[in-house]
Amino acid sequence: MTTDAPLMLFNSLSRTTERFAPIDPRMVRVYSCGPTVYNYAHLGNLRAYVFTDTLRRVLNWKGWPVNHVINITDVGHLTSDADEGEDKMELAASRAGGTIWQIAAHYTAAFKSDLAALNVRPPTLWSTATDHIQDMIAFARAVEAAGAAYELESGLYFDVSKVPDYGRLAGARGDETVGRIAEVEGKRNPADFAIWRRSPPGAERQMEWLSPWGPGAPGWHLECSVMSMKYLGEQFDIHTGGIDHREIHHCNEIAQNQAFTGSAQTGANLWMHNNFLVDRGGKMSKSKGGFATLASLVDRGFHPLAYRLLCLSAHYRSELEFSPETLAAALTRLRRLVIAIAALKADVGAADWLRAAAEAGDSRGAALDYQRASIEQGLSAGARERIARFDAAISDDLMIPQALPILEAAAADKKLPAEERLKLVATMDLALGLDLLSLGRADLRVRPADATIAEAEVEALIAERKAARAAKDYAAGDAIRDRLALAGVEIMDGDPLGWDWRAQAG
Ligand code: AMP
Ligand code: ZN
Repeated sequence: MTTDAPLMLFNSLSRTTERFAPIDPRMVRVYSCGPTVYNYAHLGNLRAYVFTDTLRRVLNWKGWPVNHVINITDVGHLTSDADEGEDKMELAASRAGGTIWQIAAHYTAAFKSDLAALNVRPPTLWSTATDHIQDMIAFARAVEAAGAAYELESGLYFDVSKVPDYGRLAGARGDETVGRIAEVEGKRNPADFAIWRRSPPGAERQMEWLSPWGPGAPGWHLECSVMSMKYLGEQFDIHTGGIDHREIHHCNEIAQNQAFTGSAQTGANLWMHNNFLVDRGGKMSKSKGGFATLASLVDRGFHPLAYRLLCLSAHYRSELEFSPETLAAALTRLRRLVIAIAALKADVGAADWLRAAAEAGDSRGAALDYQRASIEQGLSAGARERIARFDAAISDDLMIPQALPILEAAAADKKLPAEERLKLVATMDLALGLDLLSLGRADLRVRPADATIAEAEVEALIAERKAARAAKDYAAGDAIRDRLALAGVEIMDGDPLGWDWRAQAG
């Protein structure tokens, strides 16, 4: 390995940046809270997984393999965090007139395909809540036996006063935590939460299981404690989620973990949270409706990786504003890179390492550190210095916004031979996941859903127009331009990126 800046990561638990040291250097263990599959993921949700993917790539870049688990929540998540409201899945199923299983399967598949389009590598394990109900019941029994749970009419509740320091992650003690209301009569502490929700008498639930506390369904927080512990052990390395989870969901997970293990251990050494994607209306959220999905961006002619680049252009702990302008700027930035890299590829021609590196850019992510070593072999001191600076940026709590310009400058550095420049792009992109070695100009020309003209036709007309202009027949050239404009295609004469044309969404 050429570089070795220590990896510093911000721990929400200590509210400080700490030097990362894996529990077992042979395999870093990471758990990420997954989606509740009652609707399409919005762009904010997807930001959370671009973040976890970047974290994972950086860990790989530093030479550590990662065992990564993401859960799929297909039961138990209520429309309110205060143990009231309906189960989000039951509600979606009754609205759509389908079964919960159909709803879950549909939105899970859509979620996975969004991640693939964003070049987010699949986790080592997808772990589905409904496959773990018996594990959850066993866990809840242990919590009850430890004296940290009590029964009410509506189910089994966790007593937060039975664990040390409840709410430490949120930066507040449980009894002071804002926004928490004792909705359920009989709760001992306002922050107590359901770990098993008993089905109300006479209610018809699509999903319910028998349990020592009667038929019902697990509380939402239970699944993450149970599945993370089952697959990653009682104490693993990193637990991630959006910053909204820092206040309740993760505090409750920690409380359950502590009651189960009878210790003050929280379950993960590091708790990491990505900040929100916001639009002009504030935080993007599924319950608000009318949110933007990845598919809606593609329909408007944006390549998904332009959205990934937008995410990478802000630090994960900062809010990121989403707007058509910020996305268009990201697309332009990506185009510039793709054009610069196309020129380098043309110079370098076919090289064995290039084919291997392009394969590494896909979403399967084989032995990334090995690929890195093979790409970086034999690089000059000047190129290595750039890698060291890139490494220092990504090692500084994943400071990708500073790492990106280092990659851009490397691609443009005329002092380095083309092959070295391309190798720098290849190795850095292992951490960024922008697929820069495979992405071509044509890929970025996404046809908007409402475009009325096929690409081949556009290209033919543009060639015709070029010929007309070369023959000084400007009237014919203008007529073609007008014809294209009618079909929603704007010709970009003199575009500094040499992009020729752009399809405009209607
Ligand atoms: P959900 O499907 O609602 O459980 O959310 C999936 C993930 O997306 C969780 O880690 C959330 O914390 C995260 N998340 C939700 N809304 C946003 C947002 N606007 N920006 C960034 N992350 C979000
Ligand atoms: Zn979770």
